Amino acid sequence: MINVTKIYLPPLEDYVDYLRRIWKSGWVTNNGELVQELEKALAEYLRVPYVQYVSNGTIGLQIALRALNVHGEVITTPFSYVATVNAIMWEHCNPVFVDIDPQSYCIDVNKLEAAITERTRAILGVHVYGFPCDVSRIQELAKKYKLKVIYDAAHAFGCELNGVSLLNYGDLSVLSFHATKLFHTIEGGAIVSQNLDMADTIWKLKSFGHRNDDYSVVGINGKNSEFHAAMGLCVLPKVEELIEKRRQVLGWYRHFLDGLDLSLLCHGEGLRYNYSYCPALFKDEKQLLRVVSEMRKREIIPRRYFYPALNTLPFVNGQECPVAEDISRRILCLPLSVDLEEQQVETICNIISDSLRIT
Ligand SMILES: *Cc1c(COP(=O)(O)O)cnc(C)c1O
Repeated sequence: MINVTKIYLPPLEDYVDYLRRIWKSGWVTNNGELVQELEKALAEYLRVPYVQYVSNGTIGLQIALRALNVHGEVITTPFSYVATVNAIMWEHCNPVFVDIDPQSYCIDVNKLEAAITERTRAILGVHVYGFPCDVSRIQELAKKYKLKVIYDAAHAFGCELNGVSLLNYGDLSVLSFHATKLFHTIEGGAIVSQNLDMADTIWKLKSFGHRNDDYSVVGINGKNSEFHAAMGLCVLPKVEELIEKRRQVLGWYRHFLDGLDLSLLCHGEGLRYNYSYCPALFKDEKQLLRVVSEMRKREIIPRRYFYPALNTLPFVNGQECPVAEDISRRILCLPLSVDLEEQQVETICNIISDSLRIT
């Protein structure tokens, strides 16, 4: 079976070395040595000022909304994983959907301004597949209307725009380190902030709202453990290798799918990309469904990522977003993992090519 993603597990001995340290210290959670080491290593690797490790990306988004004191309307994208809108609604904010740009698949900045009302408090953009939102236009609009900006950067680990980490845009960026992501800690996530005050607020919010005897805010338990941090410390030194391997696999897909009636998405200029996904856009949903069913017969499991468009979910009061609705119906993430072989990619592409030939 070939799944859409396959978890990368580092050499077991590396993990065991960290386990020995945990056994020696007897410290398993609550801002331990390994959590601190991971936060420091991540800040260095990602070239960002402050990184706070949390239990997962979803709680990271919720804490980010709290830290910025966001209540009311939050402008967001319909083309993302459901966690983005869940976090907004779980925090009792109202999502307002703005359609996506057909090139970048991120929120369309040309439609954004029209959606701003006096109730708007924040913009929550998503760097979908690691493709950057139009961060400078969003910054301008946020300044003009005094809005907070949060980026769901779950896909943007290591992405840089013109030499600057994408995570340094907006007030806060949130990463996910779930097992299926490029860099992972089994479960986990992080919030990237730009100043010490904000970093301190986030620290308290994720630690029940207090530091020692100073109980100043209502908090939650958003911490993560030494065991999870240990996995991160094992995976981080391999990340460059993992990105390179993914780049290679994507190259094979491009080669074998060349000339077929579908498009593989490309990132724009000036981006240091992380090759985290392999989204393929089909001519129509019928073709996509045929490809999925032929692949399943051969135990190859792609994923409709993202489908359906979030504005159409039954529990949201969604505005119409024709571009996102159309793209969600036609887009498929092809299997991409570091141990995929050229032969397997060729097999997958042959199945696609055969399915497209049947009309
Ligand atoms: C994975 C993902 C999340 C959720 O992250 P978790 O760590 O699994 O909670 C949020 N947003 C996007 C876009 C994601 O892909």
